Amino acid sequence: MRILLVEDDELLGDGLTTGLTQSGYAIDWLKDGASADQALKSETFDLIVLDLGLPKLSGITVLQNLRSRGTTTPVLILTARESVEDRVKGLDNGADDYLTKPFDLDELCARLRALQRRFSSRAEPTLTHKNIILDPASHTVSLNGEMINVSRREFALLHKLLENSGRVISREHLMQTLYGWGDDVDSNALEVHIHNLRKKFGQDFIQTIRGIGYIVEPNNENTENK
Ligand code: CA
Repeated sequence: MRILLVEDDELLGDGLTTGLTQSGYAIDWLKDGASADQALKSETFDLIVLDLGLPKLSGITVLQNLRSRGTTTPVLILTARESVEDRVKGLDNGADDYLTKPFDLDELCARLRALQRRFSSRAEPTLTHKNIILDPASHTVSLNGEMINVSRREFALLHKLLENSGRVISREHLMQTLYGWGDDVDSNALEVHIHNLRKKFGQDFIQTIRGIGYIVEPNNENTENK
């Protein structure tokens, strides 16, 4: 999952980048509203963590511009404790949740998982695909009830594919999910991760759509329910 963090406080931004990276997210951190506005016009993120008091362009304006372009990406706003007005304004302008500073990293992560879950219309906290169960909270994956070791990137990739089962996800989108701007990336990095996931979970489980991307077929039960 790739997060855009927009925060002008160096100390907080630095702490959040470290903490969220350790929690398995790919983070892109911007420190003013104008560059966030620019980035959101061209890049795809899974979640946005947005401070409201920002230099150059306010967080509210960034949010308004984002929603006026029709982008539905979940947004969590960060506000000062005393500013009830800001929180109301943020929510009314299309934010999905908020946290008041100072906050706990664990709570932020839990809220981000909840936003992701709601955004993908999933009721259960875990993702189940046939005999695979992925738990975003504990960061674990099991196959037939047995825990399987996966790397941070493999976990993120598997999460993305299961969250979108039945849909082809483009190579570019998957790369954006896995890596932030500062990351050093090999051109065949994605193929290596896919290869590893197939080795661990079965060869047929992720299908290659040549020239486009990858797909995990939906659970049969799900298809019948729809
Ligand atoms: Ca600020």
